[in-house]
Amino acid sequence: MKIGIFGDVHANLDAFEAVLQDMHDKGVRSHVCLGDIVGYGAHPAECIDLVKQLNCTVVRGNHDHYCGTQTDLSAMNARAALSISWTRDNLSEEQREYLITLPMREEVEEFTVVHSSLDSPENWPYVFHQEDAEAHFAFQKSALCFCGHTHVPLAFELSDTIRSGLYQKVRIKSGNKYLINVGSVGQPRDGDPRAAYAIYDIYDSIVELHRVAYDVGKAAKAIVDGGLPPKNGERLFEGR
Ligand code: ZN
Repeated sequence: MKIGIFGDVHANLDAFEAVLQDMHDKGVRSHVCLGDIVGYGAHPAECIDLVKQLNCTVVRGNHDHYCGTQTDLSAMNARAALSISWTRDNLSEEQREYLITLPMREEVEEFTVVHSSLDSPENWPYVFHQEDAEAHFAFQKSALCFCGHTHVPLAFELSDTIRSGLYQKVRIKSGNKYLINVGSVGQPRDGDPRAAYAIYDIYDSIVELHRVAYDVGKAAKAIVDGGLPPKNGERLFEGR
């Protein structure tokens, strides 16, 4: 069974549709969404509807949380705050409610999913370094956990030590623990502008990262036309 694992769509409908098509072409019939459906991009309502249609496990991201609530945004960087208030105004009440009913973490099959880290997920910590991963692994009971949030596809393997790095394929070995970040569909930040997601083949115990080219110009134009900060679109061309 192949499970398509994706996150950080960030209201980028063009990237999201390209990823769903690619997953379908590769035999994926089951999905998991790691959160941040909305924020930054021009199509939050459409992306929420599309995620709902998948009828899959979804966990809450920080942008979902802030767009679904009326949390004060004054401590946040100006562009993120502007994007969030724009998104709030462009969602229905029902869609905002949907975002805040999403769980912070979930168990699927024999693995765990979380947007940021199992170490205080409500504080949205980033897992980039050994010590971040160590804090996370202290709360990971399952052998395998998927996350997003940094928009950088990194894999962490815990055996007697923690090893980490960019990956193409990870073979899940019994006895070890894994935290795998699947990158971002709608706003990659690893220098590769193509949309990122992973396929977990349960029977073969392999996680494989995939990249999908999509019409970045169209997504960027929708951001400008919609009245969102133009920088939200410019960064898509560079994957930063
Ligand atoms: Zn995000």
